[in-house]
Amino acid sequence: MTEQQPWLIDTHAHLDHGQFDHDREEVISRAHEEGIRYILTVGCDLESSRRNLEIAGKHPFIYAAVGVHPHDAAQLDEKALTQLRTWIQEGSKVVAVGEIGLDFYRDRCPRDIQRQAFRQQIRLARELKKPIIVHDRDAHAEVLQILTEEKAVEVGGVVHCFSGDLAMARACIEMGFLISFPGSITYPKNEEVRDLIRQIPVDHFLVETDCPYLAPQPRRGKRNEPALVRHTAATIADIKGLSLQDVCRVTNLNASKLFGIGEADQASRIAYPIRDALYLNITNRCTNSCAFCAKFKDFTVKGHGLQLDHEPSSEEIIAAIGDPAGYSEIVFCGYGEPLIRLETVKEVAAWLKARGAKVRINTDGQANLVHGRDVLPELRGLVDAISVSLNAADAETYQRICHSQFGLPAYEGVKNFLREAPAHIPSVTASAVAMPGIDMQACEAVARELGVDFRARPYNDLG
Ligand code: SF4
Repeated sequence: MTEQQPWLIDTHAHLDHGQFDHDREEVISRAHEEGIRYILTVGCDLESSRRNLEIAGKHPFIYAAVGVHPHDAAQLDEKALTQLRTWIQEGSKVVAVGEIGLDFYRDRCPRDIQRQAFRQQIRLARELKKPIIVHDRDAHAEVLQILTEEKAVEVGGVVHCFSGDLAMARACIEMGFLISFPGSITYPKNEEVRDLIRQIPVDHFLVETDCPYLAPQPRRGKRNEPALVRHTAATIADIKGLSLQDVCRVTNLNASKLFGIGEADQASRIAYPIRDALYLNITNRCTNSCAFCAKFKDFTVKGHGLQLDHEPSSEEIIAAIGDPAGYSEIVFCGYGEPLIRLETVKEVAAWLKARGAKVRINTDGQANLVHGRDVLPELRGLVDAISVSLNAADAETYQRICHSQFGLPAYEGVKNFLREAPAHIPSVTASAVAMPGIDMQACEAVARELGVDFRARPYNDLG
């Protein structure tokens, strides 16, 4: 692993597979050397679950899931269930029940037996409070139905090797499930799944190899192994326009939260990189209380924890930035309204401009109302770009969505701010979140009327 290469978790491997019998330890060492910091090796039947437990027992960074695959569902009698229960209760390395589910593609086991085994193992997972790893092949509707009826939401889990459509993905996410992608997303003909990845926020993803199967394109047709999971993460980064670091940070955090594997670094961030930009989180206070604001549920953005324990001073912010060279821009953003701290923004922006950095502010546009004066001239020469959340084409809708502390007059204040901003700041954009109830066309028309650019921001996809 090079210094720049971020670490990763392969959340779905079959290290017990016979294809690894001659060089299993080498495969495991290679994964570790390549920065695959943790591996979850997943059982398909009782024997493979037992072997995976053995492998996990030998390596501190390998964890196991135990369960019976739909192909082998006929194996799941009372004795088998008792064995699974014992393993889960006694094995500190057992982090999930899986893989379990329905496979109506190969139909190797009668469907009724598959359904029953799936239900029984979800019940076991709920009894023992373990997440589940779901196998779904050509059985999307029934998988969803059983997950719902068996209240799988209580333990959560992941649909591995996700093969459903956008509606299925959204239904899984709605239920609190993650979706996981293997190396096959790198195959040239798999445009459909890449299109799906484009439409779902990375915050709901895991990456996996499903090795020894589904080797990524560069090794297609050969045996797959955990070290190759990086290709999947890199492909997701490419599709989403993110950096590999972003995808690793987010998927590692997801795996850590779901399976309790590894260290979930949720330390409060003042400066946080996303793509090639550096964002600054200088306050959690805000003059709005937007209906869509994710901070009311979770203070995480692209794997960064943004809940501040105090508002950082200019010195602390500058120390957190370090060297601004190398970033495409430095953005005052975070989970709060940066211009509430106008003097701090001005000090830090001046420091950044003196070092040749490009500075942007993401704001709700209510700074003039907060400070009781026109603050835009004070930003001249310090700020290259400003992005103002408009979010509505009229004051009533704005207040219904954004709940400004300034009430109905807030919208006119935002519009005035946008109207005046181009006189002081080179690039001014009004934005709106593309969520139900927001008329994007009308918002764009308002932006044009005010003489500024417009940008539609995706709903539920932050950063
Ligand atoms: S303006 Fe931004 S930080 Fe403030 S409540 Fe709205 S979405 Fe959240």
